[in-house]
Amino acid sequence: MAASTNAFEMAQAQFDRVADMLQLDPEVREILRWPLREFHFRIPVRMDDGSMRVFEGFRVQHNDARGPNKGGIRFHPAETIDTVRALGTWMTWKCAVVDIPLGGGKGGVIVDPATLSTGEKERLVRGWVQQMWRNIGPRQDVPAPDVGTTPQMMGWMMDEYSKLAGQFTPGVITGKPVGGGGSLGRTEATGYGVIYTVREALKHLKIDPKTCTAAIQGFGNVAQYAAIGFIEMLGGKVICVSYWDREDRISYTVSKEDGLDPHFLMSITDQYGSIDKTKAKAAGYVIESGDAWITKDVDVLIPSALEGQVNSETVLQIKPRVKVIAEGANGPTTPEADVILKERGIFMIPDFLCNAGGVTVSYFEGVQNDMNFYWSKEEVLQKEDEKMTSAFHAVLEMSVKEKVYMRDAAYMVSIARVVKAMQLRGWI
Ligand code: NAD
Repeated sequence: MAASTNAFEMAQAQFDRVADMLQLDPEVREILRWPLREFHFRIPVRMDDGSMRVFEGFRVQHNDARGPNKGGIRFHPAETIDTVRALGTWMTWKCAVVDIPLGGGKGGVIVDPATLSTGEKERLVRGWVQQMWRNIGPRQDVPAPDVGTTPQMMGWMMDEYSKLAGQFTPGVITGKPVGGGGSLGRTEATGYGVIYTVREALKHLKIDPKTCTAAIQGFGNVAQYAAIGFIEMLGGKVICVSYWDREDRISYTVSKEDGLDPHFLMSITDQYGSIDKTKAKAAGYVIESGDAWITKDVDVLIPSALEGQVNSETVLQIKPRVKVIAEGANGPTTPEADVILKERGIFMIPDFLCNAGGVTVSYFEGVQNDMNFYWSKEEVLQKEDEKMTSAFHAVLEMSVKEKVYMRDAAYMVSIARVVKAMQLRGWI
């Protein structure tokens, strides 16, 4: 998705393409092309200097045929209702593809959280809950963190909801801190989930992962655990990661051709995923341009930073050796690049399948909250692996059976599951 692309138009276009292939009824399309419910509201917040600022907030509930809506709340200065609609729609497909009994939702506030003090952030998130609390809840809609929001904020939101509802309700929100109702394994979940799908893809392609190398874009939450997983679970080598340098305002690739050490790199990375390049250089790493990661002669590419990174220009730099692209990020490949990857026969693990480990463990967090009984990290990760592996094979089977690209197959699996739930409930 290029910056100029309207994300919701892209989400609708992806849906329309597969709806055509499936010959979906026009009435069914009309339901699924749009969110079922949208909330737009204003949140007045008393600032530390005594002034009052009013923030614009959103919540979109795309489809809850399969269960309560689920999706994060994004705090971003460029947030728009269309971005929230697109992300909410993708959440419906993501929850359906991993077959967890949840629908799709997303929320947002137009704000740069870095400009707020801790107290202002707390008042803003409590204000968000005051506007929405009658329309969220463990059986209605369960928010979570996203870009610009943190586990601490989720803790405040859970507290505000519990006060308004008059009872302790940890299951209203996920991504809470461990010890405050959060699940063990949530930090690792998305990156490890990416690697569970890479493992299955390599098995399908009959490639020994121990002989494989990977290049990763990004070094935040997803990329860090994808790197650890690729090395420690699969026995492969990661030869580079990349990051956005907040001081230089430019991205860099950090490489080590004989294999990098993600634990060392994490020890020199800040909370925003920005690596200390001086320390990396001193430890023998090579610092290259931000685009270098995609030009590497590796077997697996794992874009885990931003949308639109594999586009009509960068796709031409992908080496013939690359066999698998695992989309850790949401929307890293543009539709134009997708066509080329498909022609080249590169095996695609599409975003809403590849990075679904995060929402899967969020679902487990809600389940543990409901039981008031908490699993060990090993148990959480093992259950996540089962879900991701069976989701991967459902999509692969569809792709083989219908002779379609993996992204289209993932849509087919998800749409069929949501349509079935709507039929069973008598909506259509
Ligand atoms: P993060 O903020 O922890 O890390 C982002 C990383 O990308 C950082 O290392 C940053 O330096 C780097 N980056 C930013 N701009 C870059 C650029 N131009 N070039 C190279 N690197 C750049 O974010 P995250 O949680 O790891 O999420 C990454 C992607 O994965 C996003 O698309 C997000 O929506 C998606 N995702 C995340 C989760 C999750 O559980 N964290 C779940 C599903 C999808």
